[in-house]
Amino acid sequence: MQTRVPSETPQLFSVLGLPVHLLNNYSNWLTSRAQQRIGCHVVTLNAEMTMQAEENPPLASIIHQADLVIPDGAGIVLYLRLHGRQMQRCPGIELSEALLQNFGQSPSLGSVFFFGGAPGVAQKAVEVWQEKVPGLAIAGTQHGYLSPEEEPVFHQRLKSLQPRLILVGLGVPRQEFWIAEHRALCPNAIWIGVGGSFDTWAGVKTRAPEWLRNNHLEWIYRLYQEPWRWRRMLALPKFALRALVYRLTQRLPVSSQG
Ligand code: UDP
Repeated sequence: MQTRVPSETPQLFSVLGLPVHLLNNYSNWLTSRAQQRIGCHVVTLNAEMTMQAEENPPLASIIHQADLVIPDGAGIVLYLRLHGRQMQRCPGIELSEALLQNFGQSPSLGSVFFFGGAPGVAQKAVEVWQEKVPGLAIAGTQHGYLSPEEEPVFHQRLKSLQPRLILVGLGVPRQEFWIAEHRALCPNAIWIGVGGSFDTWAGVKTRAPEWLRNNHLEWIYRLYQEPWRWRRMLALPKFALRALVYRLTQRLPVSSQG
């Protein structure tokens, strides 16, 4: 018999007008949703996405409608600390890893699907995971460069497979739009936009060393690995400035809406 994972109630907090859900254990909360067959769209919020949402109202609206918004980035965690909330970062890649472990340990939770990345990458990532967690039920994989003619065929495939955990790695904001538009295909699934996680699992890209991650400096490694992202990463100082100005102009901490 399957033991039920006790579930906390997420506390809602506002980060520059966007929601972030505060929980001690995100993977437990999501596993509990999976056990109850409750569908869920998870957004992994970082400073870059926050700044993108400011200029892209449809993206902001998707973030508002998401069932769970996690503090993925160092900027979000520092913002929360500035407002008296001691939270740990919950990187989307680590949350996905914890869920893959849970799904592997409880096969009754259902199967998982990897969608996104260059051809062969999601497949390679799945092979790595099958080796690591032999009990994991893989529904399938699909690269993220489908032609408009291939898209409907893929939709039908997802609809008939009904995986319970669907990781979508198309990059921000493409993956958020894709999930919002297609989550009804598998209404009982947990959908997470995972960016370049398949590249990391497949060994195409590496994550920053732990000491950089622990010191909120993962972005430096990212810049070193992908220097062409410098323009996109200007969002980080912009976010920091915005956060400081907001804090200085607010006499009281942002109220939490439980
Ligand atoms: N990607 C994709 N289809 C596209 C564009 C991008 O599958 O049309 C994939 C790309 O191969 C990479 C991921 O999306 O694996 C984006 O990774 P990145 O680390 O840039 O994600 P972000 O930082 O935007 O979350």
